[in-house]
Parts: sequence; C-alpha cells; structure tokens
Amino acid sequence: MCGTPAWLRLKRLFGNAFMKKPYILIVEDEAAIAELVSVNLRHAGFECEIAGDSAEAQNQVFGRLPDLVLLDWMLPTMSGLSLAKQWRSQPETKHLPIIMLTAKAEEVDKVAGLDAGVDDYITKPFSTKELLARMRAVLRRRLPDVIVSGSSITVGCISLDSAAHRVTAEGKEVKLAPTEFKLLTALLQQGDKVLKRETLQNMVWGHYSDIDERTVDVHIKRLREALMAVSAAAAAQVETIRGMGYRLSKLAL
Ligand code: CA
Repeated sequence: MCGTPAWLRLKRLFGNAFMKKPYILIVEDEAAIAELVSVNLRHAGFECEIAGDSAEAQNQVFGRLPDLVLLDWMLPTMSGLSLAKQWRSQPETKHLPIIMLTAKAEEVDKVAGLDAGVDDYITKPFSTKELLARMRAVLRRRLPDVIVSGSSITVGCISLDSAAHRVTAEGKEVKLAPTEFKLLTALLQQGDKVLKRETLQNMVWGHYSDIDERTVDVHIKRLREALMAVSAAAAAQVETIRGMGYRLSKLAL
C-alpha cells in the first residue's frame, strides 16, 4: 500500500464516490509558499489550484467547489478568518472542508479559527508530512465511511450487492462460497464494530448449529484468501481483534 498514490487510496477507500483526484484550493498570498505546497500536493496525488487573495478564492470556490481548502490567515484585503466565516454562512459552502495555514501561533488565534468553523489549523512552518496527515484526517471525516446504494453496500474497497449476490473488491469480482458470502454480509452490516466469534456463528450458521468457534476462524481464513486473490487491500480489511473476534475495517489512508 505504501507506494500507492493518495488519490488512488482515496478512490479505493471511497469507491465511486471519489473517482477523481481530490481537488484542493490553496489560498495563499505568498507565491513561493503557495507554489511549494502545490508541488508537494501534486506529488502526493492531489489536484491543486492557487488563489492569491480572498476575491480570487471566492471566484474559484463558486466556480468549482474544492474537496478541501488550505486557507492562509493573513491575506490582503480580507483575512482568511473572515473568508472562512463567510463560507460557513452560505449554504453552498457551509460544509466546505477548511484547514487554516498561518504563522499565528497563539492559542487565542487557534480558538478564533476553530470558532469560525474551520476543520483544522496548522501553524507555519509545517512539514509536508504533517500537512498531508491532517488533510487526510479532514477528508476522512468529511467523506462517508459506508456507502449504501440500492441493494449494494460498500466499505473501503469491498462492495457487496445482496440482490445480485455479487462481491467486488476494487471493482474486481470476488468469488465466494455461500458461507463466506454470509460471513462478509454479517461483517459489512456491523460497520466497524467488533463481532465476537459466537455472534458470527449465530448470524451465519444459526442459533442451533453445532459448529465450534474454530469453524468461524476457518471460514474467515477462506474469506481472506478469496479477497486476497483479487485485492490485498480488501483482505487486509478483515481484521482479527485478539481475544474478541473480527471486524471489517475501513482502509487506513
Ligand atoms: Ca499570508
């Protein structure tokens, strides 16, 4: 997974809801900083545009809504903070993910930024690594973990269509035996809650089955193998929680 570009991991994570590269608007009046951030983000698989002041940022945001805005606090004419407040008050931009970038380090300023409704706050100078980590956290929070559409449910890169009795991982078909299909259905339905072996046993084999808990482990292993044949990322989503049971995780970015 390490060498996979961020946009591809996002695409895998969010399926069809995120087929494009995340589009980031960088609002920064210092051209050298804007350019540096832009180069680093493009390298990490994001699509970026730069706005040098608030008016330009307004135009760009209403022209094409970004997936996230990196907003400098100190801007000519109108401050980033005022701009953030304005965006939060308008229906089109109310939920726009915003990370403030600023040289202001005092606690009071951070509070003002967060009060204005920004999602996070990064003090300059910051490392690209930190910026990317915070951007991912904001994007993760802002995007759905589970996508349900019709008879199909998607968690991470795994989709299961109960009507068509079909499972795909990263869009590729996964061949599952009936028991593994039921197991995966049970795991998908639980979101990211841990399922005890006993619960899985009841859900898949019924209350009166006489299988033992080791049988659950055997079928979990088969489920992982079937997913692995198509996608290592999908197989990794089936987590063993030591001493507790199993869980279907979202993918870590
Ligand atoms: Ca500035």
